[in-house]
Amino acid sequence: MIAYTIYLPQTRELLKNWATELNVYVPTMVEDGFYEFRPWNGQVEIAWDYDLCYTTLKRFFLPPREEIISFDMKKYAASPVIEAPKQLLFGVHPYDIKAINQLDQLMEMDNPDVNYQARRDNTLIFGLEPVHVAETAFWSSMGAASVDFGYDLYWTRISPGAFFVQVGSARGEEMLKVGGPVEKSSVAQKEAARRAHLKVLAEAQKHSLKYDWQKTPELVNKFFNNQVFWRERSQTCLSCGSCVLVCPTCYCFDVKEEADDLLQKGSRYRQWDGCMLKGFAEIAGGHNFRETAWERYRHRYMRKGKYIYDKLGELGCIGCGRCVKACTARIANPRAVYNEIWEAIKNEV
Ligand code: SF4
Ligand code: SF4
Repeated sequence: MIAYTIYLPQTRELLKNWATELNVYVPTMVEDGFYEFRPWNGQVEIAWDYDLCYTTLKRFFLPPREEIISFDMKKYAASPVIEAPKQLLFGVHPYDIKAINQLDQLMEMDNPDVNYQARRDNTLIFGLEPVHVAETAFWSSMGAASVDFGYDLYWTRISPGAFFVQVGSARGEEMLKVGGPVEKSSVAQKEAARRAHLKVLAEAQKHSLKYDWQKTPELVNKFFNNQVFWRERSQTCLSCGSCVLVCPTCYCFDVKEEADDLLQKGSRYRQWDGCMLKGFAEIAGGHNFRETAWERYRHRYMRKGKYIYDKLGELGCIGCGRCVKACTARIANPRAVYNEIWEAIKNEV
């Protein structure tokens, strides 16, 4: 493992350098206890100890609305639109890197998504070891407390003024040396980083599933036909879709077209959609194959707990807790739902 030690004053110089060639985004507090990734412009204060950035990072690869084709009806011509600004996400927690790794795989399968891949190829990811755990998070029990790949650099704060920075790619290492040579880390500094990880892990384990996450597909499958359970849990669902829109692993979108007033030029674009919204499963003729809120509610837990697992061998939930925070009805919590199912049938699995 190649690792360097970077001191706090050096980070400002590095950021200045990086910002000359890339759009750099960093975590910052936007309201009391509320964090977001925002462009770094020298004025923004980095929240090194943030617990969770509320808006999902998928927006950097799969924007909420994105033009994908432009057309000219007079000329019978159409051309793809692929925008991929060079960008750097600095300070991404491991569970969010895991979510991005998952999207990378899904966007490569079947029909590769060229718009997503172009944005992803132009994005550097610098991970950051968390020091606080959001109250709603349960990532330690979803196999998302650490990642082995998906980052160019991984930063761990080992003292108030120093970081242990592990190299994940040649491009990451190059970016670290952009202002001149940097100090190689010592064995003691590596050990300090390991201790920092164990400390946050102990904190994270206070919010966990009651069972090994790998049992989840079997659990939800067995509970699929328990209509009483799904109907009761979803009684207060507003079908607002907030839980899926904030989720870093949800990637559904709808494709639409619009033309100018003269019906000569136009564009095809995609925009986020979500399976908790009533119109999501509506098809020609007005038929809706998930008409009721309870069916959509069940589908979301099946999707997170089984369908994605069947494709990738990992759950479609990385335990960030964003949906728990976003749901005004307080019913979108995967940890609570899966634990409840576990309690009901643990003797059968
Ligand atoms: S389902 Fe909720 S907790 Fe799981 S990854 Fe999505 S937003 Fe995070
Ligand atoms: S579970 Fe909550 S956030 Fe999700 S659609 Fe229903 S009310 Fe909205």
